[in-house]
Amino acid sequence: MYVYNDLREDCCRLCRSGAECGSIGRSRFGAHIICFHIGPKSGDQLLIHGGIHAREWVTSRIVVRQAMTMLREKLPLGIYFVPMMNPDGVTLAQKGAGVFPNASELLRINGGRSDFSLWKANASGVDLNCNFDARWGSGKGNVRRPAPSSYIGAAPESEPETAALARMTRKVRPVLTVSYHALGREVYYEFGQTGRALERDRRIAEAVGTMLGYRVVGGDLGSAGGYKDWCISRLGITALTVEVIGDTHSHPLTEKDLDGEEKNIWLPLMLAEMCARESGGG
Ligand SMILES: [Zn+2]
Repeated sequence: MYVYNDLREDCCRLCRSGAECGSIGRSRFGAHIICFHIGPKSGDQLLIHGGIHAREWVTSRIVVRQAMTMLREKLPLGIYFVPMMNPDGVTLAQKGAGVFPNASELLRINGGRSDFSLWKANASGVDLNCNFDARWGSGKGNVRRPAPSSYIGAAPESEPETAALARMTRKVRPVLTVSYHALGREVYYEFGQTGRALERDRRIAEAVGTMLGYRVVGGDLGSAGGYKDWCISRLGITALTVEVIGDTHSHPLTEKDLDGEEKNIWLPLMLAEMCARESGGG
């Protein structure tokens, strides 16, 4: 199991190897949301995150491996990696409620079950990927009270984790963001954009789909409040959701389910080269 402490150890390792390591903020219960930067600090940047849904913690492993691999490459632009957006939720899904001060409340939200391995939200019962300011609260399946998944929160960016990622994104203004989820082996890229922006984003999504062997899915499918949705509608940038692992697998996932997903490790380099070509007047 890839736990928060493994991420901290990988952080030290990456730091020693020359990555810039830091924190974009703290979770509700005080865990640093760890961030790495690799490549040039000036000019265009990419931003890749994983682990925003608790039970999808295997995606944190992918993003860390990407960072370790990119460290050895000559990148044409800079990349920020945020491997575990929801450290409290990941710990809850892996270890249960016992380590949290609000354990009894969490047990109640979880319907009295002590098994949290299917939990997606943070440790306040807010689904972080429904908590961004993009048609907030209008998503198919949204709920209005704390829950293992789909609770939109009291307001957009009500959670320290979403506020931290939004703040960082506004500051960095990446040209492209990737959000890692599981499952499905799919790429999503659409949220109401039109014209040239839609054409550009579809072209990039199709290149990613071809590289990974994943299906590219157009339309927004009733999505709302997601990070990708917010990047597209509020910042006008290309934003992809990449769902790893085929749907013959099922939750709860283990690291073994990552077998066959190795191509993802090279996605940052492919995207960096593609974005560098596009901004070079191509
Ligand atoms: Zn997810």
